[in-house]
Amino acid sequence: MNPNAYICAGSNIGDRAGTLLGALRVLHDVPGVSVEAVSSIYETDPVGGVAQAAYLNLAARLEVATTLSPEALLTEMQRIERAFGRDRAHEIRWGPRTLDLDLLLFGEETRATAFLTLPHPRMWERAFVLIPLREVADSRDAWLAEKLAAFPASDPSVRLAASR
Ligand code: ADP
Ligand code: MG
Repeated sequence: MNPNAYICAGSNIGDRAGTLLGALRVLHDVPGVSVEAVSSIYETDPVGGVAQAAYLNLAARLEVATTLSPEALLTEMQRIERAFGRDRAHEIRWGPRTLDLDLLLFGEETRATAFLTLPHPRMWERAFVLIPLREVADSRDAWLAEKLAAFPASDPSVRLAASR
């Protein structure tokens, strides 16, 4: 069976919602990737200490072909970030960006390289990841729903902006 991958998308510059939904459309067009579920959109306070505008965030569940590696998926995600105006060469870490696409989980795969760490190393600390992720967790990934249930269902830093 094809594995599920989970991603988180964020934007805090420009047409934030348009960018998030546009990025999902482009991702769905990548061969071997099918966007199966998309969370509500949440407005979230920035984390990381850099003063900047609020983000919009969402999470999505993808079904990925077994021929697509996690590295190939992240490479596609970074291509999409650039297509939506992200310029890593001229930005500060955890500063404002038009589009941030993080790969949270890819089946049961684990990685520990600078290019790709799986599961995403900071996902369990970030309410802006966990709250939308609850909405798209597949019953097939029972361990995930179980783990997410242990975290608070709401947080003042993560506010519903557009429900789905
Ligand atoms: P963040 O998403 O933590 O705000 P960036 O988007 O600037 O930070 O990503 C920094 C680096 O993290 C990228 O060069 C990317 O290759 C690497 N990285 C490692 N693991 C992952 C992952 N699971 N998802 C996305 N990027 C990752
Ligand atoms: Mg990122």
